[in-house]
Amino acid sequence: MKSLPYFCRGEVVRGFGRGSKELGIPTANFPDSVVEHLPADISTGIYYGWACVGSGDVYKMVMSIGWNPYYKNTKKSMETHVIHTFKEDFYGEVLSVVLVGYIRPERSFDSLDALISAINGDIEEAKVKLDQPEHLKLKTDNFFSSAPHSPSAATTAGNSSIINGH
Ligand code: ADP
Ligand code: MG
Repeated sequence: MKSLPYFCRGEVVRGFGRGSKELGIPTANFPDSVVEHLPADISTGIYYGWACVGSGDVYKMVMSIGWNPYYKNTKKSMETHVIHTFKEDFYGEVLSVVLVGYIRPERSFDSLDALISAINGDIEEAKVKLDQPEHLKLKTDNFFSSAPHSPSAATTAGNSSIINGH
């Protein structure tokens, strides 16, 4: 995918309430404005990369890019699981991410257990891949240190600065 690595950020909004948190794998959702900027060659599926909340530390993440059921599967959604245990939810804060690589396409599972073990496998793969030197260097990219402190700043800067092609 020629658009990788892909940098973007936006305010964390409420998701579909599918209970990801109850499965132990909360996923922070981006608003439509961020999803709409995704380059066409970024297909649906599971990705690994780096993420930071507000001006906090940069952590490993896995992201699911899927078809959004609210729009009869005509629009995409982007859901990020940050590989870190946070003390509190961070709805309304700015999430900055870089998509680094692709893990697998989306698929359906026969059971909840099968889904959870697939996601845990994705998380393990992300951890290993991101330790490679060429991926580690993205963790300290200026993009993260320049993260805006407020969602309104992210929106203003955001639409014109969906930064890519580093
Ligand atoms: P929703 O349907 O609103 O997305 P989830 O059950 O998927 O609900 O939970 C997502 C929310 O959990 C995020 O928006 C964020 O505020 C919070 N959260 C806490 N820890 C994490 C984490 N490690 N990764 C992603 N989101 C997290
Ligand atoms: Mg979610």
